[in-house]
Amino acid sequence: MHKHDSALGVATTPVKIDTALEIARGRPVQPVTLVRPHAARAAARFFVEKFPGRSLYAVKANPSPDLIRILWDSGITHYDVASIAEVRLVAGLLPEATLCFMHPVKAEEAIAEAYFQHNVRTFSLDSIEELEKIVRATKGAEDLTLCVRLRVSSDHSKLSLASKFGVEASESKELLFRARQAADALGICFHVGSQAMSPQAYVQAMGRVRQAIVEAAVTVDVIDVGGGFPSIYPGMVPPPLEAFFDAIHDAFESLPVSYSAELWAEPGRALCAEYASLLVRVERRRGDELYINDGAYGALFDAAHVDWRFPVELVRDGGSSAKTLPFSFYGPTCDDMDRMAGPFHLPADTQAGDFIEIGMLGAYGCAMRTGFNGFTAGEVVEMSDQPMASAYGEVPVERVRPSNVVTL
Ligand SMILES: *Cc1c(COP(=O)(O)O)cnc(C)c1O
Repeated sequence: MHKHDSALGVATTPVKIDTALEIARGRPVQPVTLVRPHAARAAARFFVEKFPGRSLYAVKANPSPDLIRILWDSGITHYDVASIAEVRLVAGLLPEATLCFMHPVKAEEAIAEAYFQHNVRTFSLDSIEELEKIVRATKGAEDLTLCVRLRVSSDHSKLSLASKFGVEASESKELLFRARQAADALGICFHVGSQAMSPQAYVQAMGRVRQAIVEAAVTVDVIDVGGGFPSIYPGMVPPPLEAFFDAIHDAFESLPVSYSAELWAEPGRALCAEYASLLVRVERRRGDELYINDGAYGALFDAAHVDWRFPVELVRDGGSSAKTLPFSFYGPTCDDMDRMAGPFHLPADTQAGDFIEIGMLGAYGCAMRTGFNGFTAGEVVEMSDQPMASAYGEVPVERVRPSNVVTL
């Protein structure tokens, strides 16, 4: 079939395939990653054209070089990188891109290499310690954009990011004041948690931002609303992204910031969830449990560990007329934890030898694969068909049959 360079989604063949069935007919033994460049292009253009500010791609969601080039070609010029490896990756791929090092706790060596070798000027921080580290590592540079990360609630999001990072309300005044003195441009950033299901998440966080600015009485040049923009999954159909953009725009307009202040966002999931899906094979059926050839240590970490549900579709010649049943999945490793509870709704006659397409794995799916127990990804194939769900049509489209969509 088609050759590939790495498990991250570098398809080397220009041949496009129209349906997953064409691939299933070749009976691939390893899971096949199906990539849809047109879906990533549509997502990028949507953000570039409609977000009322600048969109930085959060590289951790999917660091595939192919994807990063697609986003660049579609107008994404800024990248949120969180490790020195991500800095090197994007600097190597896109020498003209602007990189923003948005991890609030960095190694001093990483800051120095980013600043002196890769021209990184924007850094985030959430403590005085980190501020001192940045000043030391950049030898007191005077051209820094420093973004102070505030702790905000994750109440509206499916995955919390509220515990680990972000300065507390009681400490933001001093940190903003000190960062202002060290920075050429001062920013405030936050992250409402991933897969935010309501624009209210951002409105509330902007309330925190307002309070912090007023208390510290500093001039702020950048407001960065972070990631969290939702995609469509079974049981999780969010309001249209425009509703999020409008709410953010209104909140930004009413903040006491300098008149030339910039608005930034750091979408990860929303730019790449629709980019990739996975074609897996059923190796065994035990009652309502299907043993498939990818799992928790592969692209299905979230399905196993945070009970995320992904859309599924049986890929079989002639299909099936059986009614659907709720199934759970076991992955290929010898570990009991390699289990995805689902439920995944598939035809009742699904059996060993069948292929299943699991959709919406472009974000935090392919990116989290390990080689544990010797199970690795197979080929990467470029597809021309539509992703299983899309937030970027006129109306959100779901390709899956309604019976496959579980509504809570
Ligand atoms: C993970 C992360 C993002 C991307 O979040 P999504 O929910 O995927 O949009 C953006 N910014 C920071 C700082 C992150 O850690």
